[in-house]
Amino acid sequence: MLGNRNIELLIELLFPIKCVFCGQILSSSVKDKDFICNACIEEVRFSEQSVIPVCENSYCDGLISLFQYRGLAEKAIKSFKFKNKPELFRAFGHLLADRIVKVTNGEGFDIILYVPLHRIKQLARGYNQSMLLAVVVSRCLKVPLAKNVLVKERDTLPQSTLNRAVRFANVEGAFTLKRADKIMGKRVLLLDDVLTTGATLNQCGKLLRAASAEKIMCAVLATNRRGIRE
Ligand SMILES: [Zn+2]
Repeated sequence: MLGNRNIELLIELLFPIKCVFCGQILSSSVKDKDFICNACIEEVRFSEQSVIPVCENSYCDGLISLFQYRGLAEKAIKSFKFKNKPELFRAFGHLLADRIVKVTNGEGFDIILYVPLHRIKQLARGYNQSMLLAVVVSRCLKVPLAKNVLVKERDTLPQSTLNRAVRFANVEGAFTLKRADKIMGKRVLLLDDVLTTGATLNQCGKLLRAASAEKIMCAVLATNRRGIRE
């Protein structure tokens, strides 16, 4: 079995650094705009708020988002998720980690979790895009990643096919926390690819809160929301 680090090294060899949006191969000396070419960085819309506040009945403490979910970002994230392009995880993971460091001023997290897929869905897709992100973010932030701590026990309908009211019921009770002892008193960074209503992250946050997490900060590649709502 190849470890995650070896898989990543292999991907780096096979895939030179390209603009995450247009695919243009980038010079490795372009440091501060890593993974995005000059034309695309002008066009893509970054999230404006540093930490997006949550409403008072949310289980999470705040949300960090890299992009607004539209245009270039929406298109790239859809291909990251659905079109068998897991190599994009490296670029997205680095970009998200940079954003988290900027926003939190290096404020510490004790553990990184990610939103799990149901095992049947993960088998079908071959990978969990949120876990791939979490592997890179964990390495960049030097914060341990906890795998198989949050588990999706019940398969659900894709949230994107449902209206807002139904989305909350769809994910209610779908997740379980396998190792509450790993969460107690910890500052958790919880990762997902996209936040739409916040139903999924809030459902995971509920379990972490019940396990006495000290802090639950969510981070996603993109959202159009200005808060996570119950
Ligand atoms: Zn580009």
